[in-house]
Amino acid sequence: MKVFKFGGASIKHAEAIHNIKDIIESFSEDLVIVISASGKTTNALEQVVDTATRDKQGAFQQLQEILNQHLQLAKGLGDKVGDAYAEQLPALIESVEPYLKQADALPYDQLYDQVVSLGELLSTKLVSLYLNQHGVTNQWMDIRPIIRTDDNFRDGRVDWQLTTAAVQEQLLPHLNQQHVITQGFLGGTGNGLTTTLGREGSDYTASILAYCLPAEAVMIWKDVPGVLNADPRYFESVTKIDYLSYKDAIEMTYFGAKVIHPKTIQPLQKKKIPLYVKSFIEPKGEGTIIKDQSEFSFIPPMIVVKPNQVLLQLSTLDYSFIAEDHLSYIYDQFARSKVKMNLVQNSAISLRISFDRDERKLNRLLEGLDAKFEVRHDFPLKMITLRYYNEDLLHQMKQSGQVILEERMRNTAQLLLKE
Ligand code: ADP
Ligand code: ASP
Ligand code: MG
Repeated sequence: MKVFKFGGASIKHAEAIHNIKDIIESFSEDLVIVISASGKTTNALEQVVDTATRDKQGAFQQLQEILNQHLQLAKGLGDKVGDAYAEQLPALIESVEPYLKQADALPYDQLYDQVVSLGELLSTKLVSLYLNQHGVTNQWMDIRPIIRTDDNFRDGRVDWQLTTAAVQEQLLPHLNQQHVITQGFLGGTGNGLTTTLGREGSDYTASILAYCLPAEAVMIWKDVPGVLNADPRYFESVTKIDYLSYKDAIEMTYFGAKVIHPKTIQPLQKKKIPLYVKSFIEPKGEGTIIKDQSEFSFIPPMIVVKPNQVLLQLSTLDYSFIAEDHLSYIYDQFARSKVKMNLVQNSAISLRISFDRDERKLNRLLEGLDAKFEVRHDFPLKMITLRYYNEDLLHQMKQSGQVILEERMRNTAQLLLKE
């Protein structure tokens, strides 16, 4: 049994949805099909949440626009799909409305998950209806009672024991002569609240389900031929990588390669489940196979660019050694503010740490650090990670800005540059 994952780009218009039907039909076995929100719906729902905290009526208008777009998409798949979808919409909206109404009374991250999750509910209902009406029999499932997480909203941590049991008991029995269609990105707490797994988290959902089933393979379908050695939006000449080890994949994605969510790899690695990254535009192409092998014969140098970085420099106020006396306090502040470190470098009395810029988290972090250290920060910066680098490439990358920090390991070099 395989787990498929289709992202936002693969269901953004009617033609794209016809295309994924063809892909699913070309496989004879029953599949678990994980689907993200259509197109840019998640961004639009983030806007709704932001608006709701100051202007409820405005938020409801924005929400209505999202629903209209989905209804139009459904109608584009035929009158029958359009009518059936229109009947199902009210129930979906009802689950969000009460949260929007009390937007100012809820913690922001909790509100975010209750509202933004609508994107995946809307898209999976739509695709499920369409497929069922075209002879591709499937069962729609709400993943929230199945993927059980803690209440760390916007970055829910999976309870593997409860999730494995729920997948086995609730999902697996439906995989009999039919596919299961379910939402990416979502989970749920024991109290019935919705959580999300972090932006772009649908790849991770596919890997969680594959781990719990367990599945023989995961296939994620993208608008690129596979994993490339650099982001094709920013680099002209790129090469597809045919095979990649779990280790290379996790290193690349952690440092910002947008093609797969970084958390996807670990569960697959644990069960040695291969991950295929394939093109929904050319489904017959080989794609990239990510599996358990330490050395593949040829891997071109890989370039990963992560923009929007902040560099924080913390210096002790009394010349005490930073690494001996202060590290645990600093790391604790980062953990509390939910800021993930990217690069860390220390001198005798100061520590430099880079991370993704997020205004809310940064303010929370500075509250804990300002009084104890001399704090300076630098922005905007970009981080470039080069895996299997050579001197020429490193030199070339250094020309793209003023180098603030450089670090080299055996296989990997990293630069932090002023943009
Ligand atoms: P999904 O539709 O599954 O959400 P994404 O848009 O998140 O897909 O991921 C696919 C995109 O990732 C590609 O369109 C490409 O622009 C980008 N990308 C960034 N880095 C890479 C890379 N190294 N290889 C392939 N694609 C990459
Ligand atoms: N819809 C979510 C997002 O845009 C999850 C995903 O696409 O993987 O972040
Ligand atoms: Mg995506």
